[in-house]
Amino acid sequence: MVKFALLGASGSIGTSTLAVLREQATQFSLVLASAHSDHAKLLKIAAEFDIPCLAFTGITDQATQADIRAQAPQRRIVFGEDALIGALAETDYDTGLNAISGSAGLRASFAIAERGKRLALANKESLVMAGHLLLPLIKAKGTELLPVDSEHSAIFQAIGAHPRSEIRKLHITASGGAFRDLPLADFASITVEQALRHPNWDMGAKVTLDSATMFNKALEVMEAHWLFGLPYERIEAVIHPQSVIHSLVEFVDGSLLAQMSVPDMKLPILYALSYPHRLPSELVQTDLTALPALSFAPIDKERYPLYYLGLEVAQAGGILPTVLNSANEAALRLFQERKIGFTQIHGVCAEAVAGFTNEAEPSLESVIHANTEVYKRIIRTY
Ligand code: NDP
Ligand code: MG
Repeated sequence: MVKFALLGASGSIGTSTLAVLREQATQFSLVLASAHSDHAKLLKIAAEFDIPCLAFTGITDQATQADIRAQAPQRRIVFGEDALIGALAETDYDTGLNAISGSAGLRASFAIAERGKRLALANKESLVMAGHLLLPLIKAKGTELLPVDSEHSAIFQAIGAHPRSEIRKLHITASGGAFRDLPLADFASITVEQALRHPNWDMGAKVTLDSATMFNKALEVMEAHWLFGLPYERIEAVIHPQSVIHSLVEFVDGSLLAQMSVPDMKLPILYALSYPHRLPSELVQTDLTALPALSFAPIDKERYPLYYLGLEVAQAGGILPTVLNSANEAALRLFQERKIGFTQIHGVCAEAVAGFTNEAEPSLESVIHANTEVYKRIIRTY
């Protein structure tokens, strides 16, 4: 029985993970779970899976804390980010699945790796901000990093045991998000509700908005760079509106290997949890004869400027990916609060990057500091 910790249990990846655990109840047990503030949901999950330890990172009110503890007196319940990091350092688990959304997931990834535990990573921001520190830490601790993001799981599966020298290119597929067919003239009037509707995937708000701007794909190019150790010249993204091919590896002989299924996160989650084995599962079934025709298209610069800004920043490296990611998180908040329009998200991000002096090999403290400061400055400005 594999013991594991699920961070972000109340979210979209968290919910898919729980569906996997329900089916694979004899294989896995949950020993720690976290949410930010959704206590009703996490307490319900804890009751169903009998989880001994719970962490809420965003509940500071003492009366609410006491009320939550009173509802589950048999469980250890901790509050605040430091307490979650402490629980990750003390609890006995084999694998930590980090499905916290955004830069808030950074410290948890390091806590799991520092402990020498296997890290199943949905939180791509951890690699974007600090891949240069996380990868060496994982190596030093002799542990493993397993991708949960569907594109990276696909690449991981297709690469198999092939050395990097046999890979010509990685091709990351992109759905194109909510506005792949919207006339450019209509972009200025895009509403929050429209941007939150993803055509293929049912995901959390942040990653859905990042799909609409295609910033998500820039994050995924950076994620692939760190996960698979390839330079940016050998990583490309391509629009594939059906989201059936989750990504492809092109080998030096010209052969392309793809991994396919109907779009469903339960599959990459199950693989990250069962690796190096494959477990029998009925959760995701793909009927080839029912699939739509598969198509591919390049990523249009005018429609998705944030993707191209992300690529520039990826090439620059250092602390700039953190600055851009933080600026994007602030811009998404401003957009959701209706303080800026959809097309201004790119401008807010570009301005933040242009005004920042790069730092080549930032420490974790520098990364965390820049992340907080850039975000605060932008929120104050608008
Ligand atoms: P959701 O928004 O659905 O869930 C986020 C989870 O993180 C919730 O449990 C939430 O708790 C918790 N959380 C939110 N803010 C904080 C914070 N400040 N500190 C600690 N925990 C917090 O996100 P998703 O599940 O969609 O995404 C999670 C991660 O996985 C992201 O990095 C995303 O890019 C990545 N990912 C997601 C995919 C998907 O299909 N959803 C696909 C591939 C990658 P609460 O509910 O209490 O707010
Ligand atoms: Mg993805």
